Amino acid sequence: MSPHSATPPFGDRRYNAWNEATKARHGGRVQKVSVAAGFTCPNRDGLLGTGGCTFCNNAGFTPSYLDRRWSIHQQIDAGLGFLRRRYPRTRHFIAYFQSYSNTYGEFERLRACYEEALSHPEISGLAIGTRPDCLPEPVLDYLAELAEKHIIELEIGVESCNDAALARVNRGHDFAASEEAICRAATRGLEVTAHLILGLPEEDRASMLDGARRLSALPVRGLKLHQLELVRGTELARQWQQDPNAVRLLGEDEYIALLADFIEHLSPEIQLQRLGSEVPPKLKLAPQWNLRLHELPPRVTAELVRRNTWQGYRFGTGLLNASDGIHP
Ligand code: SF4
Repeated sequence: MSPHSATPPFGDRRYNAWNEATKARHGGRVQKVSVAAGFTCPNRDGLLGTGGCTFCNNAGFTPSYLDRRWSIHQQIDAGLGFLRRRYPRTRHFIAYFQSYSNTYGEFERLRACYEEALSHPEISGLAIGTRPDCLPEPVLDYLAELAEKHIIELEIGVESCNDAALARVNRGHDFAASEEAICRAATRGLEVTAHLILGLPEEDRASMLDGARRLSALPVRGLKLHQLELVRGTELARQWQQDPNAVRLLGEDEYIALLADFIEHLSPEIQLQRLGSEVPPKLKLAPQWNLRLHELPPRVTAELVRRNTWQGYRFGTGLLNASDGIHP
């Protein structure tokens, strides 16, 4: 779509929304049901390190209805009980292996967990969150086999496209590892969703917009964007408490403007699944602003309408950013 197109694409939203694309493809909403299979990650179990990524506290990602002592079937039943009340017309539920690295472990154990979830009569597929350096060939081959019969979404934690930022948060891999993992998965026909945090230390606006360009060059189907939030108990929160200048946090309006800039630079092919995060209040330390998840899409759309731009407006144009005088 050219920057000079008369009609903005993607309807009223002005961006390629994963929810809408998924509904059209599967004939209705696809809802994730979180499960915790008890995996760990190489950045915590000693293989790469023990401290983990400095922003990470997995309690921040775990729904309150979930009890890790239950079997996967019991967790799915509990999740369905909660989600069916909230989304009564949902047609497809997929089990979401979210916390930690859910492709890290003995292959037979991984397979048993995935198959237990898929054997639940109301589960149509899996969403599997993991790190890019935890995707050995046999696991990818097996997921590709499952994808022939089920909805399979592979969610890869890229977190940043900037190696200095990845090193600063002790991520334990570089961006090349993400590029390689995404390409190996996509070669097998697997659908990849990338997970990215905007506002990590060492990032600035130019590096994050460059990240939109670099991700757009990869075979990524979906993208989850999150603002950096400081979660209690994390190393990053400790660094900020010791010296607030060590970690600069984005303001609310600044984040909305950055999202709009990022979306303008992003390939129109990539479906946006999430525009931010919402850490439970008792765990969140900063920033002070608290936009609910459902409040983000209309704010971003309003900003794109104000600029008269849309997803991909600057994709491949070489136009750098919103301050170059192109739009009001
Ligand atoms: S973010 Fe993921 S990889 Fe990093 S410490 Fe947490 S669970 Fe491990």
